[in-house]
Amino acid sequence: MTESSGSRARRLYLERKNGPTQHFDEAPPLPQDTLWRGLSRGGEVRLLVVRATTSVQQVAERIHCNEETAQLLGEVVLSALLVRSTLNPEERIQVALRHHGPVGQVLVDVWETGGFRVHMRHPEAKQDEFGFLIGHGMLEVTRSRVSAKRSHRSVVELEGERVDDFMMKYLLESEQVLSLLRVEVAVQNGVVQHAVGYLLQLMPGGTREHLKQIVENLQTLPPLSLGMTEGDPDGRAWAEQLMRGLPWDSCAREEVRFQCRCSEERILEMLSTLPRHEIEELAAGTELLDISCDYCGKDYQIRPNQIRVLLDPPS
Ligand SMILES: [Zn+2]
Repeated sequence: MTESSGSRARRLYLERKNGPTQHFDEAPPLPQDTLWRGLSRGGEVRLLVVRATTSVQQVAERIHCNEETAQLLGEVVLSALLVRSTLNPEERIQVALRHHGPVGQVLVDVWETGGFRVHMRHPEAKQDEFGFLIGHGMLEVTRSRVSAKRSHRSVVELEGERVDDFMMKYLLESEQVLSLLRVEVAVQNGVVQHAVGYLLQLMPGGTREHLKQIVENLQTLPPLSLGMTEGDPDGRAWAEQLMRGLPWDSCAREEVRFQCRCSEERILEMLSTLPRHEIEELAAGTELLDISCDYCGKDYQIRPNQIRVLLDPPS
């Protein structure tokens, strides 16, 4: 008996629906930072997995973190990268921790291209007597689009002890998405051993039961940092265990890298926002002005005549 086109379509649909996970690309090798997204076939749950070990180490060196602040740096960077990746591809995000703890303000910008930069007020800070780098304060998340002048800012109180807890609270309160966000960072002998993380989100097609199933799967799994090995460099086999019972496919990958966007023009733009009498003072000098970028430490030398232009812009 020949198969009708209707039953063939149905058979193929079921085969596809229950078939093994499909990956759209090869996993990049272990030293390379990466972030990928997957989605369950019924659209119930979204999964994101990130590794930023190499770039977090690079930034920690660049801004002179100690082991404690490098750990915190990794946690904020991973959380910001994961949340950025859930947004529209055109959107960039700034995550700011504003508080009174020893490390001071921490800022992470993640560009729409997946590159990021960091500013940390006191990278040399040590934990206070209670073991904290962060004190009471606020988490501020600003989303903006390249094409639009407007940006959207959400503020939530810093509650809990972990950066991923702060970010989960933001996702729930401001984005109304039930999420499980976990980051794992280890720093030893001044070197970032690993900086990895994942984000699970309940999508409109999902129920709390779906999330509960995955959280149960999670109980039997090793940490993601142990799951990402030479044999499973982007953690897809680990993710397979995590999503057990819910067919899914991987669907997108983003680049992860340290990327400051500073330039001489931007430094001058920044100087132009100073009060006029300060600009006049700088312009009256005769020596080169040494200014280093707060985000990457790159040095710029600005000539007084470049500053004079700020006072009398050519018409
Ligand atoms: Zn810079």
